[in-house]
Amino acid sequence: MPLGLYLHIPFCEKKCIYCDFYSLETTNLIGEFVETLIAEIDLRAALLPASKRHFDTLFFGGGTPSLLSPKQLDNILTRLHKHFTFTDGAEWTMECNPGTITPASLHAYRALGINRLSYGVQSFFEEDLQFLSRIHSKHEAMDAIRLSREAGFENVNLDLMFALPNQSFANWKRNLETAVSLETDHISAYSLIFEPGTPLNAMLQRGEVRQQDEERDAEMYAWGIDFLAQHGYEQYEVSNFAKGGKVCRHNCIYWQGDEYVSLGPSAHGYISGDSTGEQVFMRYWNARSLKRYMDAVRGGELPVTNSELLTEKERMFERAFLELRARGIRKLDFMRDFGIDIDAALAPLIAEFTKDNLLLNTPERLVLSPSGYAVCDAITLEAITLLEKHSGTVWEQHEEHEEIAE
Ligand code: SF4
Repeated sequence: MPLGLYLHIPFCEKKCIYCDFYSLETTNLIGEFVETLIAEIDLRAALLPASKRHFDTLFFGGGTPSLLSPKQLDNILTRLHKHFTFTDGAEWTMECNPGTITPASLHAYRALGINRLSYGVQSFFEEDLQFLSRIHSKHEAMDAIRLSREAGFENVNLDLMFALPNQSFANWKRNLETAVSLETDHISAYSLIFEPGTPLNAMLQRGEVRQQDEERDAEMYAWGIDFLAQHGYEQYEVSNFAKGGKVCRHNCIYWQGDEYVSLGPSAHGYISGDSTGEQVFMRYWNARSLKRYMDAVRGGELPVTNSELLTEKERMFERAFLELRARGIRKLDFMRDFGIDIDAALAPLIAEFTKDNLLLNTPERLVLSPSGYAVCDAITLEAITLLEKHSGTVWEQHEEHEEIAE
């Protein structure tokens, strides 16, 4: 099973009005934070068994990791190498803001081993960028790919947003056409979400902005799926499209229910371990406050504020939900891990949705079709309901057999 490593860098030059990720609008504390993160690496590594210290992916997320200087990044990587190893050809991604990169910093990141960049472009239109309070200009957005290529990056993602309050359909099309014309390797296309607690949501409550209606949102999404398919992009998750097989391997770890270690404030990890001879799966959350995070680590403690052990049922539901939204439920793995035959458990769903070509049922996987992605919430909900019923019966029978055998 692949294992991922995530590092959260909690700083931004300016908060975007729609964002609910944990980040602070300052750069003054980056130096202190990097020292603390290095200390957290030591603390976490000391608790991980050898089998959990070899990673297939590394992801610097945020916040804005491209606010780190190459020297700070080098210090973090040096400490990671002290404790951990990485698979040959491991994917090392760094999220970047197009307004914070320079040719020199990109060359330095590449020299340090980063081999994938992910840019929060969102739009190539100045009015959209200003509305979203992004710090970059449309020219910086356009230049991001070119500069990345010149620095030697062969795997670059652009995040783009649709269904902005005043975004025309024509501008959304133009954004995707521009991303494709730049030969972007990977595109993440998200509908704007009005997250509770964000300034954008407050504007909505005050009636200062209006959401695009659902129909328009769905049309924009459907057009994007078609357009990207025509240009050779594989849709491998509801919002993610890759060309030339350059799927984000780190995100696939999340979407397949595989394990990952996470560091930094607000980061959450998912990792298995042994408890009295039994394999248990734990999710943990780091403090969502830089101060609490730093206080804990400086006091020699992990900055974990909460953790939970997942039951088999929770893991099964989560796996089905995540895999259906991505590359489909892997039937053999599902049987191995949960003892559930997907064809039997989801028979009514398969019959209903394969008929309408919303689901594709292959011997290996049960996967959404391009039009199925548009209604994935309804399909996943029904799948979970069916799994709940079916697993209850199967597991009860299993327990009865065990009792009889005893
Ligand atoms: S740059 Fe990214 S992380 Fe920072 S506020 Fe904007 S969207 Fe959020």
